[in-house]
Amino acid sequence: MAETEVLVVGAGPVGLTAAIELRRHGVRCRIVDPLLEPPQYAKAVGVQPRTLEVFEGMGVLRQILDSSTQMRGQVVFVNGEEAGRIDLELPDDVPFGFSSIPQYVTERILRDRLSTLELPIERGKALTGFEQNADGVTATLSTSDGEETITAQYLIGADGAHSVTRKALGLTFEGAAFEEQYMLGDVEVDWSQPAGYGIRAMHQTDGKTDDLLVCIPLYGRGRYRMSMLVPDELATAKPERGAVAHGFEGEKKPELSHVQAVLDRLSPEPTTARNLRWSSVFRISHRIVDSYGHGRVFVAGDAAHIHPPTGGQGMNTGIQDAHNLAWKLALAVQGKASAELTDSYDAERRPVGEEVVGRTVRSAREGIGAGENDPAYVMRREAQLLIEYVDSPVIGKSTDEATLRPGVRAPDAKGLTRDMVTDPIRLFSLLDRLRHTCVIYLDGTTTTDDLLEIERVVETAQAAAHGELDIYLVASPGAEVAATVLPVIRDAAGTFAEAYGAHDRSLFVIRPDGYLGYSASAVSEDDLVAFLKKTFR
Ligand SMILES: Cc1cc2nc3c(=O)[nH]c(=O)nc-3n(C[C@H](O)[C@H](O)[C@H](O)COP(=O)(O)OP(=O)(O)OC[C@H]3O[C@@H](n4cnc5c(N)ncnc54)[C@H](O)[C@@H]3O)c2cc1C
Repeated sequence: MAETEVLVVGAGPVGLTAAIELRRHGVRCRIVDPLLEPPQYAKAVGVQPRTLEVFEGMGVLRQILDSSTQMRGQVVFVNGEEAGRIDLELPDDVPFGFSSIPQYVTERILRDRLSTLELPIERGKALTGFEQNADGVTATLSTSDGEETITAQYLIGADGAHSVTRKALGLTFEGAAFEEQYMLGDVEVDWSQPAGYGIRAMHQTDGKTDDLLVCIPLYGRGRYRMSMLVPDELATAKPERGAVAHGFEGEKKPELSHVQAVLDRLSPEPTTARNLRWSSVFRISHRIVDSYGHGRVFVAGDAAHIHPPTGGQGMNTGIQDAHNLAWKLALAVQGKASAELTDSYDAERRPVGEEVVGRTVRSAREGIGAGENDPAYVMRREAQLLIEYVDSPVIGKSTDEATLRPGVRAPDAKGLTRDMVTDPIRLFSLLDRLRHTCVIYLDGTTTTDDLLEIERVVETAQAAAHGELDIYLVASPGAEVAATVLPVIRDAAGTFAEAYGAHDRSLFVIRPDGYLGYSASAVSEDDLVAFLKKTFR
């Protein structure tokens, strides 16, 4: 028998997310990382609204918000003149805004959460290889004492851009490195730029950018993570052809004087940088694997996809990879998963990775939203609210035009009411985030016989889902609901019907990752059970 159910390789943000989600599902797992101490620098700072929804389910939202500052937009300067301004605005139905938080703080919060789930990170252990067969995986790790072997039912490789897991799986990682090299500095400045706005200041000659400064606000007073082109004295050698050149490079650290020199050239107003917390030189590549896993071994995060940081998509995408995979592996180790469920990880997440790599390369060259004329669409896309799995083999098929189609992010609905609760509640507050949730709408025409039939169908559905299915009835504002054994929520403001296109007795199944797995304009036992059988054994 395997020593552990899932071995998570790498304790960066993606491995930590996978481990937290697995532990929340009660899965026995281990997590290893060669670093004796966690890193203290901030590659990722942008955390997207969709990731905040994920963090809410993971139980870390309050801590993340307490250490974040809201990203309100960006002001663009060209040759010292303001050339444009983007306001990061989302409609009311989206519960969270754009936030900025240093990656080392995000990781610390995730580590704290993991320790409440009683899973220590085994540091000083690096995966060196593995073998897998139909029953499990045998991983080999190098440790300070020599070598260790761990047997597991599944292995998640969240071991970053230079992933050993990826190489051992024999996956390709097609792409290339960008020519330019950059440096980062976490500094404070005093200036009159609007709080919460990023600053993108460029120098252009004949319309071509030849100098660049990007400042992302961090929590604190006048604190920014500034990135800029590296000066010759700090530049490192060009990577060899085919080598994965991504992330921090070189021994020489930029100093305040290097940051100040760029501010003197490009800052929208004279200012002096101070309090350099950390700095680094980095290079960027764009690459993606040809598969997110084989058999019992999967890759997630930078192990699967790397690309420019433009728009702050990388860590967010990786966290959502782990979030997508964890509940599927939990069902698999519990013996409740259909044969195709774990394969759906690649089917759902690889197209997302491909889109992000392509888009961020375009954004790095042409700017975010270039070529798009609908700013509201661009905002939702960058917020990662438009990711969908419509073509996934475990997602139901759309039945009518009016009802929200399966495969999209399940939207929130505010203003719901229920007996015994004084204030209105959100739909999201009903989602367990571990189990599936079936929501059945009841309009004013619902009869007692309809309710009895619904009660019968959901009992069959709960059995098909091995009990992993919560049920809610959501009644339209004026509907009379006869006595029922099922919990009744009132769509008092009509927001649920609007967001979900609910009518008559439409039925929706929301997955543990907050995606709409199934929707139908009427309750059909055969159809619902057929959908559940795609996920559950
Ligand atoms: C300059 C810059 C700015 C960025 N800004 C943003 C942003 O604003 N928003 C955003 O979403 N993303 C951003 N990113 C991307 C983001 O930093 C990465 O996508 C994110 O760190 C990926 O997380 P990960 O856990 O997959 O990999 P990593 O963070 O690289 O973690 C991998 C972990 O695996 C461990 N490991 C390595 N090898 C082994 C092994 N053999 N065995 C066991 N463990 C191993 C490592 O020690 C490490 O702890 C930025 C990146 C850069 C470079």
